[in-house]
Amino acid sequence: MPHVVTQSCCKDASCVPVCPVNCIHPTPDESGFATGEMLYIDPDVCIDCSACVTACPVSAIVADYDLEVADLPFADINAAYYEEPSHQGYSTTPVVANKRRFELHERGPLRVAVVGSGPAAMYAAEELLTRRGLEVEVDVYERLPVPWGLVRFGVAPDHQLTKSVTKLFAKTGSRRGLFFHFNVEIGTHLTHDELLEHHHAVIYATGAPRDRRLGVPGELLEGSHSANEFVAWYNGHPDFADMSFNFGVERAVVVGTGNVALDVARVLASDIDYLTTTDMADHALEALRYSQIREVVVLGRRGPEHAAYTLSELVGLTNYDVATVPDALSSPDPKTQFLKQVAAQPKSEGRRRIVFRFLSSPLELVEHSGRVRAVRVVRNELVDGDTSPTDDVEEFDCGLVLRSIGNRGIPLSGLPFDQVLGTLPNVAGRVVDSATAEPLVGVYATGWIKRGPSGVIGTNKQCAQESVESLLADFSNGKLRVPSQGRPHLDELIGLRQPSSFGYSGWKAIDAYELKAGREGRRPRRKLVDVSTMVDVALGTCPTR
Ligand code: NAP
Repeated sequence: MPHVVTQSCCKDASCVPVCPVNCIHPTPDESGFATGEMLYIDPDVCIDCSACVTACPVSAIVADYDLEVADLPFADINAAYYEEPSHQGYSTTPVVANKRRFELHERGPLRVAVVGSGPAAMYAAEELLTRRGLEVEVDVYERLPVPWGLVRFGVAPDHQLTKSVTKLFAKTGSRRGLFFHFNVEIGTHLTHDELLEHHHAVIYATGAPRDRRLGVPGELLEGSHSANEFVAWYNGHPDFADMSFNFGVERAVVVGTGNVALDVARVLASDIDYLTTTDMADHALEALRYSQIREVVVLGRRGPEHAAYTLSELVGLTNYDVATVPDALSSPDPKTQFLKQVAAQPKSEGRRRIVFRFLSSPLELVEHSGRVRAVRVVRNELVDGDTSPTDDVEEFDCGLVLRSIGNRGIPLSGLPFDQVLGTLPNVAGRVVDSATAEPLVGVYATGWIKRGPSGVIGTNKQCAQESVESLLADFSNGKLRVPSQGRPHLDELIGLRQPSSFGYSGWKAIDAYELKAGREGRRPRRKLVDVSTMVDVALGTCPTR
């Protein structure tokens, strides 16, 4: 019986080189890998050996006879991939792991600073620390007292399998040669120049934390938030823990049809009993317990065939009451057809509904007493693939609007910035001067600050490999400056600037504390959301321990 790749596929392709018959595609070297939504197992080639199950960092691969009911569609989704003529005739020769594209002339010691501790940062650190024949030290700087960036603060709390990729990052975190500096902000406690005094190179993996703007009147009214704020709030991000959202209304409107839009719509439509089995922050559970929301309208400015969400995330709505305008569902593409199937399911009395409205753009958020009262929406036509507004305008009463239209990077002090893309300008991860396009010595980028906010967790593995490849080539060719200061000076400086910084053992203490609290409440974890409590637990000064 074949194995099947399911929803939590992170696409980091750890499964590919362990497959003895090369039945998992697209591989990183095949066209379609960069843009593909997930990986797929060819049921006609799979020999059911389970090697991929062990290699998968997020438990996404399951034997077809073991599929949960909600994951059954993935058997067809995997098989359908190989029905496409362009996906046939793959070689069955195993892919060789760990190709090393060039020999190092210089073997170290090399000292690299990585700014950020999300997936992009951790894949870069892993790539450096596992490079054969290289003596390397990697210092990871994280402004918060807790690691893993968007895996902790972005991935939805009901996607615990996706979050299990942190086991991979924890392995990297424990490697010899890796030094964590939690609670240390670059730009506040240390400058970019100071990093370069202590390291041959700096890799920025700072993500894309700024929200894109809709640019319609009323966008910033009370009751209108970016979906990213809502996500950070329910995931217990300390900077967002004090926010409040209006759940005392019948309808919420989500703008955009990306995976973040689906996450927030699903969370708003979920039963509280389901959410309490997750690691959602306590304050969010408490607030959502009393939610009056009955309907979540998701607005897509184009058609369902253009929706930015992935098919695997749409499959996650199978257990929800979903509705849409049926005549919008004529396109034969898999996402539209799956939506049609989900929307046709019988509805349950009293359950919250998720309603997709395609070809619909917000014109204005309408105010009442300083708060959002409704969204005025125009119906679009598609002209040569672009949206063109019609005269058809309607109003959706609502008291909560979540704008889920993507992110941008934030400029970093002393570094160039591409204002259009919201990224560090770079060529293959080498940050370049905006005017001359010349690489800045020792400065690299990876992840969303390098390529913009696209892809899934594992996309950052290939992205990090490219940046590290550039860095090592520069090191090998003598293009990096030798740091003028050593580790004792660095430790002294950090101790002076941020006395409450700490290393990996501090995070392990927080992790153990949260896991224990979670076990007591039969939940995967109960997150700390207050920075000073986190620091107390990390440094062993917490009175309740
Ligand atoms: P996204 O995938 O870029 O989607 C943005 C959405 O906003 C699109 O539907 C876009 O429509 C729409 N939009 C943009 N500007 C708009 C405007 N002015 N008016 C109306 N709609 C507008 O962004 P995201 O959902 O934030 O996701 C970011 C990345 O994280 C993606 O790669 C996503 O796959 C990933 N992610 C993955 C998961 C997962 O794997 N489970 C979960 C969350 C996020 P158009 O298509 O028409 O531009």
